[in-house]
Amino acid sequence: MGISRQMQKYLAGGSLIRRLFEEGVAMQNDGTGLPVYDFSLGNPMLPPPDAFEEALAHYVGHRPSSPHGYMANAGLPETRSAVAASLSKDHPVQFEWQHILMTVGAAGAVNVALKTLLDAGDEVLVSAPYFVEYGYYVENHGGRLVKAPTCEDFNLDVAAIENALSDKTRVVLINNPNNPTGVMYPQETLNALGNVLRKASGRYGRPIYLLDDAPYRKLVYDVPVCTSAFAAYENTLMVTSHSKDLSLPGERVGFLAVSPRAAAAELILSGCALANRILGFVNAPALMQHVAASLQDVTVDLAWYRKRRDRLFRALTSYGYRMPYPDGAFYLFVKAPGEDDTRFVAHLKKQRVLTVPGSGFGMPGYFRIAYCVNENTIEGALQIFKEAIKNIP
Ligand code: PLP
Repeated sequence: MGISRQMQKYLAGGSLIRRLFEEGVAMQNDGTGLPVYDFSLGNPMLPPPDAFEEALAHYVGHRPSSPHGYMANAGLPETRSAVAASLSKDHPVQFEWQHILMTVGAAGAVNVALKTLLDAGDEVLVSAPYFVEYGYYVENHGGRLVKAPTCEDFNLDVAAIENALSDKTRVVLINNPNNPTGVMYPQETLNALGNVLRKASGRYGRPIYLLDDAPYRKLVYDVPVCTSAFAAYENTLMVTSHSKDLSLPGERVGFLAVSPRAAAAELILSGCALANRILGFVNAPALMQHVAASLQDVTVDLAWYRKRRDRLFRALTSYGYRMPYPDGAFYLFVKAPGEDDTRFVAHLKKQRVLTVPGSGFGMPGYFRIAYCVNENTIEGALQIFKEAIKNIP
């Protein structure tokens, strides 16, 4: 075959979520006219806030002189300054524009960070369940993904992480609030993790970096601000985007922030800017950077998500489903009745309800519901969920 062995392997494995998405599209067009209740993808149905449309119209109306040109690989200084000012309000750390690098989404930012930090064979530690793409991202840069379990309530198991650390661990990668569980890690847990990483960095004689993948950081429903990895540990990098907090996943704009207190912060930022270029991203999309500069303190309508979370969480628990309390993001991670997640997901699919098996997140026995969907999808599916748990296959 004319492609690499690695790519052949990836293609054969396929992405479970993408495959489900494609099956969902095929089902929508199968000619039956029956509705499909699609909870498989984290693609928000909620439109961007009005402030985004206004900022975009304002920017375009002003006909700036050179809006579409190349720029410094790290991004526009005014956007980086706006990000730094906004981040400094949510974390007990003073960021300057130099600590921020604009990226092609959070996915681009994770790749830029790993490209900069990893030597071949270095380990990246994740806690299962985890975002499926991490495995690819780590392999992209010659690293090795190492998995630790989480606690029963899906909080980070700091003792398990400590046990899994080695002299090869370069990065501990967390995702807070979490996809697929919706759990937000308590500040005490992050602080305990910080202590463990500080000790281990001393023991192994090189810093272990905490990489906080936080595209859902603004989607928390019971507290004003998400907990902070920056507050817990000095060697922290955060990556995020406006895919979820402004509902702009297709626009591919995000950023990476390096703690000013991190070891070799300046060098990391220089490396990340170069990585942005040589990975072929070059710089984050110019138009979106211009527009995002004025939107750092704007977020989508959180009440839209809270309503859906509450409706689904209450209804499903009343039917007998079990899941951790979802503090944030827009996912429920539900224990599969009958234990077999792929079988239960297939059972739901027969009734045109699409969800994702936990196996796709390194955690069989559960399935994920993405509730970034319209209310009629939820209302239409509830009766199916109610019946499905009564006749487990
Ligand atoms: N990380 C996690 C945990 C995600 O869930 C996603 C997207 O769903 C990403 C990263 C990628 O985000 P982006 O669209 O900003 O690249």
